[in-house]
Amino acid sequence: MALKGQMAKWLGFSDRKRRLAGALEAEAPANIQDSRIHFEFGMVKNGYIWNFPKADGYSIGIGTFRGGEQQDFKSILTEYAASFGIDLKTTKQYGHPLCLWDGDQTLHTQNALLAGEAACVVDPMTAEGIRPSIFSGMKAAEAIDQALGGSANALEQYTEVISKEWGSDMVWAQRLAGVFYRVPGIGYKVGVKRPSAPARMGKILSGHMRYGDVAGRALKRLSTGLIPGMGG
Ligand SMILES: Cc1cc2nc3c(=O)[nH]c(=O)nc-3n(C[C@H](O)[C@H](O)[C@H](O)COP(=O)(O)OP(=O)(O)OC[C@H]3O[C@@H](n4cnc5c(N)ncnc54)[C@H](O)[C@@H]3O)c2cc1C
Repeated sequence: MALKGQMAKWLGFSDRKRRLAGALEAEAPANIQDSRIHFEFGMVKNGYIWNFPKADGYSIGIGTFRGGEQQDFKSILTEYAASFGIDLKTTKQYGHPLCLWDGDQTLHTQNALLAGEAACVVDPMTAEGIRPSIFSGMKAAEAIDQALGGSANALEQYTEVISKEWGSDMVWAQRLAGVFYRVPGIGYKVGVKRPSAPARMGKILSGHMRYGDVAGRALKRLSTGLIPGMGG
């Protein structure tokens, strides 16, 4: 179910718990030899910039995930794109809202479920939304199948499953984001720059590790980094 659509409202989910974030994306046609993906932490406050190579060009985007003061996305992205030899003016640009997880909530009603971004499952640390949307879609399909098979509380259990299997880890993602994006310089030094960090993040993004496994230690490192002379 789509984020921008009216369906959730029509079903009675009028007051969803979510944090609305924003992203601006630019598609730049290019002949790319280098398949590395790029992330930039620091040029934009409370978020990051990415550059993903695709078969026929770059997908460059900027997103903020924690609110705060208004920022000029376009001029920041212009500067970033120029570092790859791209003139932003020559690209197609799209602005999108993002519906970040902001706490567990009821995702079922009579004969209907919310899944995907409409269920506000997007990771508040990375803004990863595809995997949780597919996951919630699969769980919703299972619940609907059980309900049609006669299980009276299958829809209700769907809310519990999403809370237990996704929400419980998003609590950690949210805590981490709360500290990381407040002090991205320290976050970069004690987190991103560590050789083990990209591998850990890869494991989290592929579902082989959970934030809960590493967030405690990461939060400790970030808070130690906040004390002058202790970061490193
Ligand atoms: C710029 C940007 C970059 C992103 N990059 C990433 C990334 O790299 N990795 C990642 O994991 N996530 C990323 N995300 C998040 C991710 O794209 C979304 O969270 C995810 O696509 C949500 O999936 P969904 O199926 O719930 O909704 P959507 O992908 O929005 O799909 C909903 C579909 O329903 C259709 N629709 C709407 N209303 C109706 C209607 N009334 N009837 C029929 N159809 C309707 C819409 O047209 C749409 O096709 C990004 C988001 C943005 C904005």
